[in-house]
Amino acid sequence: MADTSDGPVLVPILGDQLTRDIASIRGRTKDDTVILMMEVWDEATYVKHHKQKIALIFSAMRHFAAELEDAGWTVDYVELTDEDNAGSFTGEVARAVERHDPRAIHVVEAGEWRVQQAIEEWPDKFACEVEILPDDRYICPLADFNEWAEDRDTLRMENFYREMRKRTGILMDNDGKPKGGEWNYDEDNRASPKDEMNPPERPLFEPDEITRECIELVEDKFGDHFGNLDNFGWPVTRDEAEKAADAFFKERIEKFGKYQDAMVHGQDDLWHSMLSTSINLGLLDPLELCKRAEQCYEDGTAPINSVEGFIRQLIGWREYVRGFYWRFMPDLESNNALNAQRGLPEFYWTGETDMRCLADSIRSTRDNAHAHHIQRLMVLGNFCLLAGINPREVQDWYLVVYADAYQWVELPNVAAMILYADGGKLASKPYSASGNYINKMSNYCSDCKYSVNKKVEEDACPFNSLYWYFMDRHRDRFEKNPRIGRIYSNWDRMDGDKRQAYLDRAEQFLDTLIPADSSWAHAE
Ligand SMILES: Cc1cc2nc3c(=O)[nH]c(=O)nc-3n(C[C@H](O)[C@H](O)[C@H](O)COP(=O)(O)OP(=O)(O)OC[C@H]3O[C@@H](n4cnc5c(N)ncnc54)[C@H](O)[C@@H]3O)c2cc1C
Ligand code: SF4
Repeated sequence: MADTSDGPVLVPILGDQLTRDIASIRGRTKDDTVILMMEVWDEATYVKHHKQKIALIFSAMRHFAAELEDAGWTVDYVELTDEDNAGSFTGEVARAVERHDPRAIHVVEAGEWRVQQAIEEWPDKFACEVEILPDDRYICPLADFNEWAEDRDTLRMENFYREMRKRTGILMDNDGKPKGGEWNYDEDNRASPKDEMNPPERPLFEPDEITRECIELVEDKFGDHFGNLDNFGWPVTRDEAEKAADAFFKERIEKFGKYQDAMVHGQDDLWHSMLSTSINLGLLDPLELCKRAEQCYEDGTAPINSVEGFIRQLIGWREYVRGFYWRFMPDLESNNALNAQRGLPEFYWTGETDMRCLADSIRSTRDNAHAHHIQRLMVLGNFCLLAGINPREVQDWYLVVYADAYQWVELPNVAAMILYADGGKLASKPYSASGNYINKMSNYCSDCKYSVNKKVEEDACPFNSLYWYFMDRHRDRFEKNPRIGRIYSNWDRMDGDKRQAYLDRAEQFLDTLIPADSSWAHAE
């Protein structure tokens, strides 16, 4: 529909687009632009997000709006409690169109499928021109990912990652070879935490007045959501995020690689960067972070295994899961290749379990809205895989509980990486492991009620029997898998009674699990 307005251009900025370098703001003039920012009920409640996640996003949005205003931009900011709040992005854009009579709407595509579907209806809904711009904060455009994926039977991250190294020139020598001689130093990044571990403390940022208001708002409106707000210390501005990055590159990147897979009871951050919330909000640029990491290698302040490991997470995994998400949505949400039907145990919400590895990972999740990668993958995720928990419930849990959780990054990690629900498009084998792995990579087992060395007794580590229960249940699918198929010869070598004892113990344990009420994740 043609529009004759000579009003400004309306630029809706979504909650994870908090950078002045976003394509819809870049190049615009201030006197011709109204920036629209919206706190809406649909987004705050489509799952019952961790309280810290809502406070973080609202606070970062309010700070960003203030920063834009200080710089002379016109910002129309809709607060959640505004009397006329329409509840949805589309409803709020409609109200803003009434207020400003714009000649055009320029919006950067959404990170999440659900929101993008709504945005794609705007050209039919609004009389003015609507331009939907690609999100060029990602290093690999979606079209390039699809071209890379197109003729491949398997979409292995490692192949994608090498292409990204070549494309960006990050950690590459002039002769086109990887710096240090190898593409991947993962083998060097598996030190177990048996020595004394004294990681430096990461900076926590004292909530200012804006953040305190958001915390109060969350306590008032979302008081029954999971998690607590006591430890809130996330960076909420670009300045703070840069300070957090400075601290990482100065104090923690050196040992990031060595202890990347380690887990220590009560030590929640170790040498991880803790930057995912800032990167996902748009406060930090991932390519810049990779360049800074490379510089640490050049300066000799961090070894190649740390630097390569960090860069692989960002230009490898992060870019890869985003491409994977858009390629396989919306089906990815309902994939359930292993036909897992069990309900999520209640202890995922309460933390009340005698399994010390799970209890500590859930405690960190509740207190910090964060758990590090190996806790998410090999403790919390591994349990859901082995116990056959329904992917929908696991997806909801991961989306609720982490401050960095947006569906584009959460879903591929959950459905495809931990649950194998996509049938192996992402992973060449399931990430299944017995208690032995957790014992090797952590200090959890030494003080656990269960014994990691026992197999089928009542006090045996549940991961041990669940592991064989899982492998046995999915023998048809995995027996011919070149990476794990040979496990079955170990299984077959056990005598029949022992095999049966494993299966019985696993079933007995699973029978004790109390399924969670759905009201933890969704409003009634
Ligand atoms: C089941 C599961 C669910 C996850 N859900 C999320 C999520 O909702 N949001 C999220 O940002 N990350 C998610 N991750 C990835 C990863 O666990 C977190 O990015 C990381 O723990 C964040 O802490 P950090 O910043 O200290 O990361 P670091 O260990 O310091 O890693 C550096 C950065 O690399 C990126 N990164 C690392 N691993 C991945 C990965 N597998 N996928 C995408 N990016 C990665 C992140 O941006 C991270 O900040 C998930 C992983 C698993 C196994
Ligand atoms: S013994 Fe088993 S349940 Fe206990 S901490 Fe170790 S792996 Fe976890």
